[in-house]
Amino acid sequence: MNILVINAGSSSLKYQLFSMENEEVLAKGLCERIGIDGHLKHTKLKGEKKVFDEDVSLPTHAEAISTVIEKLTSADFGVVSSMKEINAVGHRVVHGGESFSASTLITDDVMKAIEDCIPLAPLHNPANITGINACKSVMGADVPQVAVFDTAFHQTMPAKAFTYAIPYEFYENDKIRRYGFHGTSHKYVASRAAAMMGKPIEELKLISCHMGNGSSIAAISGGKCVDTSMGLTPLPGLPMGTRAGDIDSAVLEFIMNKYGFSISEMLNILNKKSGVLGVSGVSSDFRDLDEAADAGNSRVALALDMFDYWVAKVAGSYAAAMNGVDGIIFTAGVGENSASMRSSICEYFTYLGCTVDAEANKKRGEEIFISTPDSKVKLMVIPTNEELMIARDTKTIVE
Ligand code: AMP
Repeated sequence: MNILVINAGSSSLKYQLFSMENEEVLAKGLCERIGIDGHLKHTKLKGEKKVFDEDVSLPTHAEAISTVIEKLTSADFGVVSSMKEINAVGHRVVHGGESFSASTLITDDVMKAIEDCIPLAPLHNPANITGINACKSVMGADVPQVAVFDTAFHQTMPAKAFTYAIPYEFYENDKIRRYGFHGTSHKYVASRAAAMMGKPIEELKLISCHMGNGSSIAAISGGKCVDTSMGLTPLPGLPMGTRAGDIDSAVLEFIMNKYGFSISEMLNILNKKSGVLGVSGVSSDFRDLDEAADAGNSRVALALDMFDYWVAKVAGSYAAAMNGVDGIIFTAGVGENSASMRSSICEYFTYLGCTVDAEANKKRGEEIFISTPDSKVKLMVIPTNEELMIARDTKTIVE
């Protein structure tokens, strides 16, 4: 079975085609500047590796999907002989609200429910819907389409974890609550952690630290999410590349009054100009920050210290929430690659009986224990793979 995984943004569309017999990625690519002019980078991975990287006209998402299918079936860059060999499509959908606690086959009712979640994710869900409609129009109604939600894994959180302490009618009337994101990643690494630890996930208390441009932490008890650091939107929790994370909401009023900002200008600051970028004044990219910190930039050092501190603080609160922890997972760009960040964070975990194996911590790009054998809590680096998780869910549902 071949499954096409689609992650549609407002002007971009990422894809990977999987052969599910051995979970091999046959080809992958990225359409950019859709609706503006258009650019496609397509990489054929099956057989001889070949890259197509050119400007192509992409006036709509449907044209982008047509172009992708044409590449996937072409003589030069193709990996299947016709569209008929694409058996199903799995779509990343950002917000499923309270309607979806698992991936689901897309029907008219499901489309309606995804549309109903637009107020909760006004930037993301419309783009995801456009991607689904584009696939339907190009591939036809017979090819099953599956929605995999970023929020679904977190739907097991208890009310005490997801309810905001504001008048309850905002929850009842408007569904204002914590939802959480990166669910596909947290679910994937948690299942890998259980496999690495050789124990059923039902018996484990895990803390998953997804540290990338956007960062979130999830507390996972018995395989179910019981708390997570992002909220109604992906803004709260840890300080991130450009997002502020948790902040006293009265700060908004103070800054808006003083500088005459509108709410959208204020949110733009909190989403795009804050986080480690805002504090350091240098970059949102952790590689740049590592370099600048080595060169002695004290604000960069502060931004990095804050990041470590927040990861440790939130993870510690989750160890308390679960009354214990068996394993702590590091994943995503920073979590998978930055040995120095991992070791600074783990310095906060000695009270849990964690000890880091400094040699193992230097390794990259593989699933590995970075704790010593006698460490009370296992520390793991697990490369995330959201696309594979989407492909697996799609296969399960289609079968
Ligand atoms: P992601 O959002 O998961 O793609 O992660 C992107 C982040 O990972 C960026 O801030 C990168 O700077 C960071 N990153 C990637 N490689 C490294 C590395 N070797 N050391 C530190 N940060 C890294």
